[in-house]
Amino acid sequence: MHDRREFLSLAGVGGGGLLLGACAPSDSIGLGPAGVGAGASPTADALHDIFKTIAADDTHCHPLTFDDAETTTDEFVERLALSAFPMDRYFPRGVYQEWRNADPARRAALDAEHDVARARAAVLDQAEVTVFLRFMVKEMAAFLECDPTFEAVIEARNARGADYGGYLRDLFADANIGNAMLDMGYREGMNAEQVARFETAIAPTTGRRILRVDTILGGLLSEDLTIEEIEAELMRQIEEGLDGTGNLGQPSYGMKSYLLPRIGLIKPLFDRAVARRNWDEFRRLRARGEVPASDTQDRDIHWDVQTDTLRYLHSLALEACLERDMPMQFHAGDGEAPRGIMRNQDPFLMEEMVRFERDGVMRMPQVILIHAGYPLIGRGTWLTHLYPNCHFELSLATPLIHHGLLRMYLEVLEVVPLSKILFGSDAYHLPEFYWLAAKWGRRFLAQALGIYVDAGILTEDEAVDAARMILHENNRRLYHLEN
Ligand SMILES: [Zn+2]
Repeated sequence: MHDRREFLSLAGVGGGGLLLGACAPSDSIGLGPAGVGAGASPTADALHDIFKTIAADDTHCHPLTFDDAETTTDEFVERLALSAFPMDRYFPRGVYQEWRNADPARRAALDAEHDVARARAAVLDQAEVTVFLRFMVKEMAAFLECDPTFEAVIEARNARGADYGGYLRDLFADANIGNAMLDMGYREGMNAEQVARFETAIAPTTGRRILRVDTILGGLLSEDLTIEEIEAELMRQIEEGLDGTGNLGQPSYGMKSYLLPRIGLIKPLFDRAVARRNWDEFRRLRARGEVPASDTQDRDIHWDVQTDTLRYLHSLALEACLERDMPMQFHAGDGEAPRGIMRNQDPFLMEEMVRFERDGVMRMPQVILIHAGYPLIGRGTWLTHLYPNCHFELSLATPLIHHGLLRMYLEVLEVVPLSKILFGSDAYHLPEFYWLAAKWGRRFLAQALGIYVDAGILTEDEAVDAARMILHENNRRLYHLEN
């Protein structure tokens, strides 16, 4: 498997100069509304103008609260940066939350004892010194019509915060997002009414819901139930979620699993007796206090001792999706530490679930590898190349790797059938995440496909057809959406 540097030299395919030009520094990087970046060819510019008129469906994203209507530069970075997700883990349990809510005197006392402000600054400062953030500031400044500094952007954003719903509506309209496939497994405790408030704000973008198997299991596995009781309740909730309106009062269009970053290699398990043996042993260990917590000590052990149980229950969920011809998303790349164990996220470790073999037959459930396999992009693309029921999704890397998207999209287009590439953002917390993903997604897709057109590999019509598939047609076909 080639490395990145080699890839850059390979990716030229007759348009090497263009690719290198697109990657070269410039003092004019074309950030205006129509600009597609330095060195982009007139072909890429023309494609980009067309792509902006094509609605983007966001295959994997999350509902947003209205808590970020007013913010500061530090708070914005803390909500944006994946490296800031475990902020509270750098201190004894409860300290960080207390520090956030404390008056100045108590804060000073906590700082003296736990060095909270300094540790927090260490996390935020490095997240702020990124090309991503500097690029984002310029983009937001153009949208908000203010000076291109982070402080000015946040000030202009806060001015819009008085009508935060209106701000969301404008961002989503500018990003031209069709469907937002909302993974309800991460929603910051929002209730049905709060999710509906978000969905109303983003209209005419349509929120459609994805059911998270881990969320259902979280409640069940913490109780002292038998495997039969867990299975019965899991299936009841899956049926209610997939066949009825059991996803906070709305239907679901597919499921999502977060199992890969927990246990690594997932082999399907259909034998309840094996799961029961494992579960009963797990309950005995847990009753004796011998299961380490997932966020302390040895993270692997916490998951190792319940792996067969989890393989069995997630296989039941995939089976339920297969029966209904609904897709199931599997987290496979990118992601946040320390909740996910980074070394477990290799897309190749998903191969057995993709095969889903039983009685000598590979039964072809529709599996979506989400988060582009990043940084192991090539492993995700190759699995998708080999197995027709495996789909490749671009989120989180889109928008996080910004200009690197040109390189990534070229790598994806090398081997993934155009009919199996899905656009996504994994947007969380901040609406700008949705907006940047759609904006940069179209821009760098235009550059990647522009290289193919200039090299005579694709016609312009074929490039536009490809973009339409990637931006929304594949999503609508897979989830059986009419529009
Ligand atoms: Zn997500």
